[in-house]
Amino acid sequence: MRIDIITVLPGLLRSPFDESIIRRARQKGIAEINIIDLRDYSTDKHRSVDDYPFGGGAGMVMMIEPVYNCITRLKSERHYDEVIYTSPDGAGFTQAMANELSMKENIIILAGHYKGIDQRIRDHLITREISIGDYVLTGGELPAAVITDAVVRLLPGAISDAESALSDSFQDGLLAPPQYTRPAEFMGWKVPDILTGGNTPEIERWRFEQSLRITREKRPDLLGEEEG
Ligand code: SAM
Repeated sequence: MRIDIITVLPGLLRSPFDESIIRRARQKGIAEINIIDLRDYSTDKHRSVDDYPFGGGAGMVMMIEPVYNCITRLKSERHYDEVIYTSPDGAGFTQAMANELSMKENIIILAGHYKGIDQRIRDHLITREISIGDYVLTGGELPAAVITDAVVRLLPGAISDAESALSDSFQDGLLAPPQYTRPAEFMGWKVPDILTGGNTPEIERWRFEQSLRITREKRPDLLGEEEG
């Protein structure tokens, strides 16, 4: 899978993809992640990518021309399944969305900045708008990193123990059960006996019950139940 991220702050995006699972996925050729500096597509000598808003008001707006030039160039080289814009008013990002995106071959993520982007980019070039939560960040770089991380770790081969991603929270509509590691007892705090007993079917049943209990306590909405 190939993910091309368009940004005005390429430096902000380097380290999230240079560690752990995402780094390994890149090294193994499972995911290609390209960080594209929007300023390379500016049309003036100052490498401008923003301008004052028509009608006045506070803040600057990301201009359409560099974005159009950049996306057109990328599209001339390959087909893209989605051109995503990260936006606080987009559809809320979910695990189901990450699963869906992980099936795509090539996607572009446009990280917004300033007061936002020229609406014509959204109307004519973007195929999907995604929010990572009901709060406003300085730019779309962190949302782009969140989306990319959630998608890449799902790609076959990205996680060595294939089961691991499947047993994470939300994959089966439930939150994950508690996990423990050695020592079996610390400061008198013991690991549940069932986990050290070696009875795999019983452990599986216990984990499922714990998942159900935690989901009911913390996120009853996932079970279609009322909160409170
Ligand atoms: N004026 C915009 C508004 O009120 O919706 C916010 C602009 S914000 C300062 C700059 C950029 O950060 C946005 O264009 C978007 O790309 C990104 N951004 C900020 N919060 C986000 C969120 N919760 N989810 C996704 N992207 C976000």
